[in-house]
Amino acid sequence: MTKTFAELGLSEQTLKALEDVGYQSPSPIQEQAIPPLLGGRDVIGQAQTGTGKTAAFALPIVEYVQHDLAEVQALVLTPTRELCIQVTQAIRVYGATHNVNVVAVFGGAPIRTQEAQLRAGGQVVVGTVGRVLDLVTRGSLVLHDCRFVVLDEADEMLDLGFLEDVEKILGRTPNGRQTALFSATVPTEIRALADRYLYEPLVVKVEAPTLTIDTVEQFALTVGAAQKEAKLVEVLRAERPEQAIVFVRTKMRCERLFRTLRDQGVDVRALHGDMTQGARDGVMLAFKSGRLPLLVATDVAARGLDISTVTHVINFDVPVSPDVYVHRIGRTGRIGRSGRAITFVEPRQEHALEAIVRHIGMDIVPWTEGAHTDAAPMKAPPRRHEKPQVARAADEPKQRLVISGGRAAGIDVAALVGAITHATGLDGEAVSDVRVLERFSLLSVPAAEAARVIEALDGTTVRERTVSVEPLALGQPAD
Ligand code: ADP
Ligand code: MG
Repeated sequence: MTKTFAELGLSEQTLKALEDVGYQSPSPIQEQAIPPLLGGRDVIGQAQTGTGKTAAFALPIVEYVQHDLAEVQALVLTPTRELCIQVTQAIRVYGATHNVNVVAVFGGAPIRTQEAQLRAGGQVVVGTVGRVLDLVTRGSLVLHDCRFVVLDEADEMLDLGFLEDVEKILGRTPNGRQTALFSATVPTEIRALADRYLYEPLVVKVEAPTLTIDTVEQFALTVGAAQKEAKLVEVLRAERPEQAIVFVRTKMRCERLFRTLRDQGVDVRALHGDMTQGARDGVMLAFKSGRLPLLVATDVAARGLDISTVTHVINFDVPVSPDVYVHRIGRTGRIGRSGRAITFVEPRQEHALEAIVRHIGMDIVPWTEGAHTDAAPMKAPPRRHEKPQVARAADEPKQRLVISGGRAAGIDVAALVGAITHATGLDGEAVSDVRVLERFSLLSVPAAEAARVIEALDGTTVRERTVSVEPLALGQPAD
């Protein structure tokens, strides 16, 4: 029997924030990690991508922080800038009813701005390893009172060679701190780090892969290397995915497939490690906001990112290992949703598919044109220049947006809806589930309009306050 959030020991205030976000019950990793973390224990939390690890530590942090103290009380270290931003947003939302100040620090942005933000007071700091170490070394980030430290996605820190820096940072925090480590996998180096820096940690492990791929319908199709591109177009036409990621093995193949699809008029972008950080951010934002239906990506570039709106994963190149397969398709069929995964297998790669089937212990059935008929109705892959649909069905996909500014700034529902209809020409009915919190507001707009709303409203003034608007990287209300 799943417990409720209240049964985990969270305060009324936090429960209110969760209600605003629309979470109905804790995920397994949350159910197991939150009570010991609230109780002050060190925890190693291991669960696959997409299982809700962020809230598993973010909710205890929100409860832990004393809002009448200005010092940095909690630190979350992340391997990448994307994750840093995602975690920051999440803590802000979960902490919205607590008035928690969260500062994000990451490379590739001016350090002085971040130093100023830290001076203005950050009770929780979320940062990438390199930038945090820089700031600590410069004396701009003081961790003397930081008694709650989280290493998020620790296995990726290992991949990126950050462990030594992580140790230096931990060395600057009080010995009596509470430390938690969350990761999809716990390789020996990470376990060794935990043995050195965590105190009698409780190991909380949610077994993969059943968690997320249970809800994914899995298909494979055998296709010769030379026919793959044509086959992909055929599959996209038949499946009509709302949003899909196509995984390829290398950066070069990624770029090539992207160009081929683009030249055929498909609305698609690429995501791979040779792109600049700025270009990657742009693609991610477009994808998350729902305005980009198709992404061609390499494993590394897309790893660890929460892309909860994805309906389809297509393995254009068969994954190099069963683990990679689970990692890829775990991106669809997130909590409360179902997804479809289609794997292309070249004739000489049949053994790789067999290894995957053995590993996951589930059937992967042959894909055929008709295999999609029982799926929910979905949009055709939009083509460039095609007009967005205007009819507003009750079940059309929505995007939740976070607006900086809430009751404290005099913002109310009418002001928000008014600003949006005025700036975009949308009718008021397009804006739904508006929640005005103390310092933030949340609302939903049709996913297809989200980018337009963000563009029109971001940086404008509502009730004499300049607001920023961002897509919420969190699950949508369940109903
Ligand atoms: P992980 O870090 O394990 O990869 P995330 O913390 O990024 O996973 O969460 C994945 C998605 O699940 C996010 O969109 C998040 O908003 C959503 N989510 C997390 N917890 C819940 C919950 N209890 N109910 C519904 N959705 C949730
Ligand atoms: Mg995570």
